[in-house]
Amino acid sequence: MEFITLSNGLKIPQIGFGVWKVDNETEAPAAVEEALRVGYRHIDTAAVYKNEEGVAKGITASGVPREDIFLTSKIWNDDIRAGRTKEAFQESLNRLQTDYLDLCLLHWPVEGIVEAWRALIELYEEGKIKAIGVSNFKEHHLDKLQDAGLMTPMVNQIELHPQLPQQEFVDYLSKKGIQIEAWSPLMQGKFMEIDLFHKLAEKYGKSPSQIVLRWHLQLGRIALPKSVTPSRIQENLDVFDFELSSEDMSAITAIATNVRIGTDPDKI
Ligand code: NAP
Repeated sequence: MEFITLSNGLKIPQIGFGVWKVDNETEAPAAVEEALRVGYRHIDTAAVYKNEEGVAKGITASGVPREDIFLTSKIWNDDIRAGRTKEAFQESLNRLQTDYLDLCLLHWPVEGIVEAWRALIELYEEGKIKAIGVSNFKEHHLDKLQDAGLMTPMVNQIELHPQLPQQEFVDYLSKKGIQIEAWSPLMQGKFMEIDLFHKLAEKYGKSPSQIVLRWHLQLGRIALPKSVTPSRIQENLDVFDFELSSEDMSAITAIATNVRIGTDPDKI
C-alpha cells in the first residue's frame, strides 16, 4: 500500500474500499471482511449508504484492529440542512461501533454547509475526527468556507475518472493543499467498454481495472474502488507492482469526454 499525507500530517492509504450500494445485511459484512483480509486498510462509507452497521460487522469479523483501519463516513444532506451535524456524526459512530472517525466529510454542498463545517471543525479540535473534508464541492462552494474565515478542508472527494479528469479543478485543489479522493474511479464499471484499457492490460500483463487504478495512483490521488466480488476486491488492490509510461498515462487522459456519470454538485 502507498500513502498520501494530508495537510495536517495524517497518512491515508491511497486505495480505499468503497461501499456505496453495498447492502447492509447481505453484502457489507462479507465484502468488508474480505477487503480487510486481502489487505485494504481504508474503508469509505456514508450515513446515506445505510450500511454502517454492516461495515462494523465486517471490521469485527476480520479481526483487524480498529486503529489499523482508516475509516471514513459522511454527513448526509438532510442533516446538513437541519443543522444536526454533531448528532449525525454521533449516530454514525454508534452504527460503526467506534468512538472516532479517521475522516468525516460533508457529503454534498447543500444549504447549511458553513454551519456544518464549523461543527466538523469543533469535532476535529475535540479529537473525535482525525481529518475533516468535503465531498462534491466546486470552487464556489469552497469559497464560502474561506469567506467565513474557516479552516481549509483536508480532502475533497469528487467524481473523477478517465472520462472526467477535471484537470483545471485538480490543479486548483492541489494549490490549496486539498487532497483529492476519486469517487467512481472505475466509472461504475464502464471502463470495461473502452478498448484502450483492454489493450493496455495486455501490454502490462494486468487487468483493465488495474490499468485504470494505476492511472489514478500515478496522478497522486486517492481512489475508492467498490466491488462485492472477492476476485475483483483482490484485483483492485494489486496495483503497486507496475508503472504506466508517460505516453500511456497521456493516452488514458485523452479519452476524456468530460461527461459526468453522477450528479452535478450544482444540481443537487
Ligand atoms: P466504481 O468503484 O467506479 O465501480 C464499481 C462497479 O465496478 C461495480 O459495478 C463493480 O461490480 C464493478 N467493478 C469493480 N471492480 C471491478 C473489476 N476489477 N472488474 C470489473 N468490474 C469491476 O463505482 P462507485 O461505487 O460509484 O464508486 C466507488 C466508491 O466511491 C463508492 O462505493 C463510494 O464509496 C464512493 N462514492 C462517493 C460518492 C460521493 O458523493 N461522495 C459518490 C459515488 C461514489 P461488483 O461490485 O459487482 O464487483
